[in-house]
Amino acid sequence: MAGQDAASLAHPHDEQLPSFRYAMENQTGRVSAAGSAKEANIDEFPVSEKIAAVSMRLEPGSIRELHWHAIAAEWAYMLSGHCRITVFSPDGTCEMADFGPGDVWYFPRGYPHSIQALADGCHFILTFDDGHFSEFGTFSLTDWVGHTPPEVLAENFNVPAATFQKFPKEEVYIVSSKAPPALPADSPPGSQHTGPLTHKFSLEAQQPRKFDGGFLRIVSQVEFPISTTMTGATMTIHPGAVRGLHWHPHAAEWQYVIAGKARATVFASHGHARTDEFTPGDIAYIPQGFGHYIENIGNDDLQLLLVFNHGEYKSVDLADWLASNPRRLVAANFGVPEDVIARFAPGGTIVGS
Ligand code: MN
Ligand code: MN
Repeated sequence: MAGQDAASLAHPHDEQLPSFRYAMENQTGRVSAAGSAKEANIDEFPVSEKIAAVSMRLEPGSIRELHWHAIAAEWAYMLSGHCRITVFSPDGTCEMADFGPGDVWYFPRGYPHSIQALADGCHFILTFDDGHFSEFGTFSLTDWVGHTPPEVLAENFNVPAATFQKFPKEEVYIVSSKAPPALPADSPPGSQHTGPLTHKFSLEAQQPRKFDGGFLRIVSQVEFPISTTMTGATMTIHPGAVRGLHWHPHAAEWQYVIAGKARATVFASHGHARTDEFTPGDIAYIPQGFGHYIENIGNDDLQLLLVFNHGEYKSVDLADWLASNPRRLVAANFGVPEDVIARFAPGGTIVGS
């Protein structure tokens, strides 16, 4: 038949598509006494071309050393514990701030930063707006200084070359340390040197958008102006409810299951669709424009962290789309009577239960 891919229709759907699921927390990752990092980029999770991620844990006081990323911005969500970040901007400003559960940070590509756990240690999810990004190939302070001749460093910092004899020769990556002192409640006048846009956003402190089947908190560039290339969200779907059929016209979607049990289905056109089930610590990736829906198949709330590789949030819901077209047209499209279409409910984003 003209325009139809007969070869692809001859095969079972699932075998035609790569998996959209990866069990990130089941990996060992890079582990030291100071912390650990589990990575998911295109090497581990081939479909995730536009978004890479890391699950990182830091022991109390441990420091993810001063570093930057050459090819990607960093968007992070705190799951548990507390940490302090420093981030330096090319305009000479530097922000230092403490983060707790539900807080988000965004560092533009190339901006150098550090992360130090406070006294309770911490666990956070890092995401990057390039699936080729590797956390294990970042630009670290000790790596560069350790691979620069001491005479050059001596000139750069105006100290004797012998100063650098005991500095690390290789990247330390995560280093043990003592938890830092509390930030002052009132900084001395004139000591603030932060830029015009903060790198911190308290996502869980926001009012959620509520639906019949759950609720959603979104942080895009609208709410968090520095986050020009990424949007994040947390979504709760009640037992039996579903995030309805939809797609994102200009962004890929990355998901991390915080709690609960999910079944997600991705529609890839040409008769192909794939369903996978997810438990906490699993991640999903949905390519830009691919149709999808997510069901809560557990007995408790399903809690998801969502990340998109665009500063603006946009979605197209199938129910809204059909409700906006003439019933006559939709009915003729399916070859059914108009009153069948008239019974379709309009979109509700998270429906049922
Ligand atoms: Mn980083
Ligand atoms: Mn989606």
